[in-house]
Amino acid sequence: MEELRYQVDLLSALNQKLTSEEKMLRLICETSSSAFLYVNFEENIVKTLANWDYFFPGVEIKDTKDIAKLYAEVEDKYVLPLRELLFLEKTKLQSDSGIIKLKDGKTWVECEVSIIYNEGNFPTDKIVRFKNVSKFQNQNDELTYMAYYDVLTGLYNRNYFVRLLADFVRKAEEKNTIVSVMFVDIDDFRKINDGLGIIVGDEVVQQFGQFLSEFKSDYVVVSHFNADIYCIAIYDPCGNRSVEYIYESIQERISSPFLLSTGQEIGISVSVGVAEYPEAAKSTLELINCAEIVMFRAKGLGKNAIQYFNAPILNDFLQNVSIENKLKEAVFCQNFTLNFQPQYHIEGKKLRGVEALIRWKDSDGKMISPAVFIPIAEKNGTIVPIGCWVIEESIKNYAAWKKKYSVDMILSLNISAIQYKRHEFIDNLMSIIRKYDVNPNDIELEITESVLIDNFIEMTEKLHVLREYGLRISLDDFGTGYSSLSYLKGLPIDTLKIDKSFVDTMLTDKNARIIMDSIVYMVKKLGFETIAEGVETQEQFDYLKSIECDCIQGYLLGKPLPGDELEKLLMKLG
Ligand code: C2E
Ligand code: CA
Ligand code: CA
Repeated sequence: MEELRYQVDLLSALNQKLTSEEKMLRLICETSSSAFLYVNFEENIVKTLANWDYFFPGVEIKDTKDIAKLYAEVEDKYVLPLRELLFLEKTKLQSDSGIIKLKDGKTWVECEVSIIYNEGNFPTDKIVRFKNVSKFQNQNDELTYMAYYDVLTGLYNRNYFVRLLADFVRKAEEKNTIVSVMFVDIDDFRKINDGLGIIVGDEVVQQFGQFLSEFKSDYVVVSHFNADIYCIAIYDPCGNRSVEYIYESIQERISSPFLLSTGQEIGISVSVGVAEYPEAAKSTLELINCAEIVMFRAKGLGKNAIQYFNAPILNDFLQNVSIENKLKEAVFCQNFTLNFQPQYHIEGKKLRGVEALIRWKDSDGKMISPAVFIPIAEKNGTIVPIGCWVIEESIKNYAAWKKKYSVDMILSLNISAIQYKRHEFIDNLMSIIRKYDVNPNDIELEITESVLIDNFIEMTEKLHVLREYGLRISLDDFGTGYSSLSYLKGLPIDTLKIDKSFVDTMLTDKNARIIMDSIVYMVKKLGFETIAEGVETQEQFDYLKSIECDCIQGYLLGKPLPGDELEKLLMKLG
């Protein structure tokens, strides 16, 4: 603008003196990469100068009427703004500028106008400069693109999705209709990313994103949130594009694999959470949150599924969040206690050992079952310090009781898969066993089949190491997991605990009884000890005795007891 002003000042000076400096003016114009249009109102002179042909080849402007020819040189939507600039004198303004796009569809031109008025406020001269600003404008376009779109998939990004969803919600509020949000997450995406590399992961995300983009319409907004997460908003008062339709189409697409540029074929499944305005939430962000929460439920129920929002799921979630927060505090303050449940040999009802079971009263004084908080602790990793505390505290108590009452019994400890998989697990455990001078033969680790799922060979080797140290291994909750009797054969275990669910049903359900019979029979043949869990009635006890189950644990013979009460029992036996 300054440059132009300078040229106008020059012109203005020339207006008074003229001719001798004309050469200089021409030089300035011609060395500039811009094009100029000069108008002298008093003498009705119109001139085009400098790089005119570069901007407007073949457009000759000889008088003021010709100026209108320039409208044909710009894209339609810029005709009006250009007209306002070219005839700026009508507004009595001195200068103004604007950016217009030429008909070629790629050149952006800045158009600056300056007018000289005489003392009577009539325009005497006008100069218009056209300057190519495509480079800056394209950078600007890129920034705008990045503000709205996700570069990997070309779908809308999260921020823009939230804005568009807010528009849908506003419309739905006015018209009393619904908006659905689908939260779509690729299952086990980490395995693809970690196992095959990020580039492969990115291509899967891209291809699936491309597929989802087919649903884009005035009523459906498709976005890529991040990594393997997509969000779709559907405002569909006519009901043509329903959640069901989109989910079915997704299922159909992913029933065959994606073919990547490397020639690899990758199959995926997705978990989808759905929340609707206004049922689930009234605000945009809450709506997305609700859809995400129910998506996690779909994952929890085995993945590759769709889950619709309902209030109990949200309540469960909120309760878990509250438990999680309180749990972190409890871990910090070591606010737990232990119960010990006796286990008996069926023959002679002799005490076999005790199982340590954790207890937690939250900050409001409410008992929270380990069946509820242990899975949460496993998810957020607090199971590691909790598990360490259980091991040390129970071994400390056990050592003291052994000394005091010299009762022969095993101490069983529940070991979570997360805890077991850590490389320092064995060293820590052994150092505690040594610290309290306990015989490793008296310590039994209860593990579940989940320990073996991810890395069977490595985890089985770990079991061998533990047994070499003299520890006992017991397979807990048998019958609830994969429970194949055939794989038990090679496992380095001593004991198998048959899950309570079989004990509960064996007397009333013929199939359960057959399974129970064969488990006990086979397991004995394999040389393992059997313990039936959750034995509550004499009938159950008698039946288990008749099929020669070795041991039982359950309310019939003993509930989990706090340490001081267990001591009373040991005192009697000692
Ligand atoms: P589990 O290892 O299968 O423990 C047996 C559960 O059954 C215990 O529940 C016990 O109180 C209960 N039980 C025993 N006999 C009977 C009976 O006759 N009837 C009924 N209805 N229940 C009986 P609890 O103490 O609530 O523990 C639940 C689960 O929490 C445990 O199942 C175990 O998986 C986990 N858990 C408990 N303590 C720990 C721990 O220190 N570490 C880890 N990792 N998990 C623990
Ligand atoms: Ca157990
Ligand atoms: Ca169990």
